[in-house]
Amino acid sequence: MDEALRIQQLRKQLETYAREYYIQDAPTVTDQEYDRLMHELEDLEAGHPELADPNSPTQRVIGAILPGFEKYTHARRMLSLGDIFSREELEEFVARVRKEFPGASFVAECKYDGLAMALHYEDGRFVRAVTRGDGLTGEVVTANVRTIRSVPMYIDAPGHVEVRGEVYMPKVSFERLNEVQTTLHLPLFANPRNAAAGSIRNLDTSVAASRNLEIFLYWYQNALEHGINTQARALEAMHAMGFPVNMDFAVCDTVDELWAFIEKTREKRSSLPYEIDGVVIKVNSLEQEEALGLNAKTPRYAIAYKYPAQEVQTRLDDIFLTIGRTGVATPNAVLTPVRVAGTLVSAASLHNEDLIRDRDLRIGDTVIIRKAGDIIPEVIASVKEQRDGTQVPYVFPDTCPVCGSELIRLPEEADHFCTNPDCPAQVLGSLIHFVSREAMNIDGLGEKKVCQLHEAHLLDTIQDIYHLAEKREEILALHGWSDKGFDKLLA
Ligand SMILES: [Zn+2]
Repeated sequence: MDEALRIQQLRKQLETYAREYYIQDAPTVTDQEYDRLMHELEDLEAGHPELADPNSPTQRVIGAILPGFEKYTHARRMLSLGDIFSREELEEFVARVRKEFPGASFVAECKYDGLAMALHYEDGRFVRAVTRGDGLTGEVVTANVRTIRSVPMYIDAPGHVEVRGEVYMPKVSFERLNEVQTTLHLPLFANPRNAAAGSIRNLDTSVAASRNLEIFLYWYQNALEHGINTQARALEAMHAMGFPVNMDFAVCDTVDELWAFIEKTREKRSSLPYEIDGVVIKVNSLEQEEALGLNAKTPRYAIAYKYPAQEVQTRLDDIFLTIGRTGVATPNAVLTPVRVAGTLVSAASLHNEDLIRDRDLRIGDTVIIRKAGDIIPEVIASVKEQRDGTQVPYVFPDTCPVCGSELIRLPEEADHFCTNPDCPAQVLGSLIHFVSREAMNIDGLGEKKVCQLHEAHLLDTIQDIYHLAEKREEILALHGWSDKGFDKLLA
């Protein structure tokens, strides 16, 4: 057989096998057979340098240092969608579309939290990958995208084909990456999206290759010209061409059906292997889509329903220490108040000195806040790109802010302790603990009342609790106490 032809054949065959292995998880050949064909291809390519192709399976995992990223102007603007947050806004969107197309149906798909990407093919060969950039012009990141196993290098389609989608880092890869960062004492990545973006924009292609990135395609450019007239068929066509497409989408005729998809997706969101931040709703008919066109900045034919933000950015205004019942000094972040997952957050525990160092948090930094388990706010990272030189690294104090005694950190311990056993903060902390539900569960003596009595010097030790009856008059003189309430406490 013609060696040039055999090279082409092997490249396609090996890609099919790789797809079966990595994407479909259903290999049809043994590892030995795969390796044998790979070696055959390597040998043939070595004899034919004129046929070298960076898309070849032999080349995809080899790292290289790029000089920089070229710019590329998108043939059709790559816009982000307008966001909505409520069912009412969804109803408004559907009504707007139905005003022009009364019979319009819609497609609902997951909205991935990654990096938008356009893939270009010429006569079946992968030639280019471009980031969204500012929507008009993006960066050419072909070499890094080539390292993503699920991106096909060869497709069965003539002429120019452009598909768009989202590069993302699976949750499990993200966790593994941060474990490695921890071991190497490197700063942690804030979330999978930042990690994916950092990998794609790294000039060393071996970095992207090591990060286990994935892609979902959801947009077939000029699908009408390819004889496809709905978004649902476009998704199916891309899937059939070998692109990774999330086939868990729904064609919906009513707001109720769209809302049901949004609710169903919300429920399974945390168990998905990738991060999503909402649901995209598009007009199904591609002719209607073209007719609806664009607003100034966003498409009119699609909208993104966003789940309440679980992660937001704000400013780390200061760090202050609190001293606990056992004398542990805990650093806390003072934050410019910000809404996260429905509530206002203005402070968060930073736990200990190591956490502040590992996450490289400096006073004045823009930081990323997340609600852990959607309840407790957590400062997960600083946004280093937003530093302007005024940020100040935090120096852990060496004295207790309450009593002025020395703070010490024992070897092998993460916490600092106040060394003074009579430290008022420790005394008050232990009093609050004593009356709390977990300990004595004393009715009518909550944290506020303990603080009040402590400040009035009526309650300095745990023994004092049993002598409160002797201080009846002084206590009743304080704000918020009545005879009835006091009797109840004594009981
Ligand atoms: Zn102290």
